[in-house]
Amino acid sequence: MEITKRKLLQSMLVAPMLAAPALILTGADKADAQSATPAMAPSGPGYSRFRVGDIEVIALLDGYMQLPTQFIIGYDEAVARQSTQASYRRFTEGAIPISVNAYVIKTGSEVILVDAGAPKFMAPDVGRLAANMKSAGIDPSEITNVMMTHLAVDHVNALINQDGSKVFENAGIIASETEWGFLHNPAVREATPEQFRGMIDFGIMAVAAYSDQRQLFNGETDLASGISSLPLPGHTPGHSGYVVRSQDESLLIWGDLVHFNTLQFANPDWGIVFDVDAAQAAETRKRTFDRVSADRMAVAGMHVDFPGVGYVERSGDGYRYITAPNMPI
Ligand SMILES: [Zn+2]
Repeated sequence: MEITKRKLLQSMLVAPMLAAPALILTGADKADAQSATPAMAPSGPGYSRFRVGDIEVIALLDGYMQLPTQFIIGYDEAVARQSTQASYRRFTEGAIPISVNAYVIKTGSEVILVDAGAPKFMAPDVGRLAANMKSAGIDPSEITNVMMTHLAVDHVNALINQDGSKVFENAGIIASETEWGFLHNPAVREATPEQFRGMIDFGIMAVAAYSDQRQLFNGETDLASGISSLPLPGHTPGHSGYVVRSQDESLLIWGDLVHFNTLQFANPDWGIVFDVDAAQAAETRKRTFDRVSADRMAVAGMHVDFPGVGYVERSGDGYRYITAPNMPI
């Protein structure tokens, strides 16, 4: 039987664990999810332009997910209240809304999409990447490469159409060799509980259409003019950031180094149950915070409040996130 995105989505909708996030929605959220207006639509456009030297970067909003606090390693509600308050965000009990972002980098010769958002079965208010890309004036045919921070299910959705064909018809895929091997390792799938295997299958299916134009890298590698990879292992073995440099400015797009910006800057040891190696993820997080704060380097994160671009400062025993000014470019 031919596996299409639609068929796999249908099968996953009935998978008990994958349906679980929907169970944590309150009655009001469910009503909103079913209405025409998304519950957590932003008040502004779903894209934001900025510059790193001569390179233009466009943040794209895919949407929002509610993550249950049971998914957070190290979670302590009193501490969470305190650090949420310190970051001027409303505290919510039981689940925390997080942003799903992607970024387009225009180097002059290339138009690169970094990550591709989450499928609807994960949350009612994701899957808007394509619409927001269109609003930003970017045509899918312009994309020359999709560069993946990792190949988890909430980062690959917009790569393919319902029939499994490429959305970005002129693009190749760039990913870490370790990450590609991890996704395609039958032993990893075998060791994954049955109810989660659909997530791996979804990732495999999403990248398959790009497989014959793949460029796999190891370590720190120059990948395009002004762009190089930076290994950030832990969340997944091949999880990688991308450093964008132009003139004297730099930006690190760090993928899933942070899932909860209200919590993990103040408490960098806190992780998420989806971390393949949570201890390594915490080490990588602290090392990266040290580096970007010392270098005054801009950062961008796939789950940092949209547009997810800012700076990290040391603060007490931990760190603090400063949203970047949103200025004309
Ligand atoms: Zn993610």
